[in-house]
Amino acid sequence: MHIQRVGSRASTVGPAAWFTGHVQLDSLFEGQAPQRTSGVCVTFAPGARTAWHTHPFGQTLIVTAGCGWAQREGEGICTVRPGDVITFAPGEKHWHGATATTGMTHIAVHEAFDGRAVEWLEHVSDAQYLAGAVE
Ligand code: MN
Repeated sequence: MHIQRVGSRASTVGPAAWFTGHVQLDSLFEGQAPQRTSGVCVTFAPGARTAWHTHPFGQTLIVTAGCGWAQREGEGICTVRPGDVITFAPGEKHWHGATATTGMTHIAVHEAFDGRAVEWLEHVSDAQYLAGAVE
């Protein structure tokens, strides 16, 4: 049994190569082999979002605060709120983040393949981001 005490690990800032705007990352757990699941709490400032990306084994997001947007390629932007649980299929291209005016926090859980849990793609342009939520 291992208890990671709150406050024992410093927050980090999401790098500009992978995110737009200010994003705070707080690692929750990192599975050790043969485990491959990790979890991170991600806090997006208003206007902040991930770049487009995929996860080799998919990803589950649990929204814990605020109001955000998420989108899979080819579909409209969805509004997500605390308590919503969003799952992305393996290889599904998507992004997630805050709305333009409201911050959002989610817990993200995903599995690594060959040590990589995400494949980063191009940034979400302002035009894509501000296209408007459909639901
Ligand atoms: Mn994702």
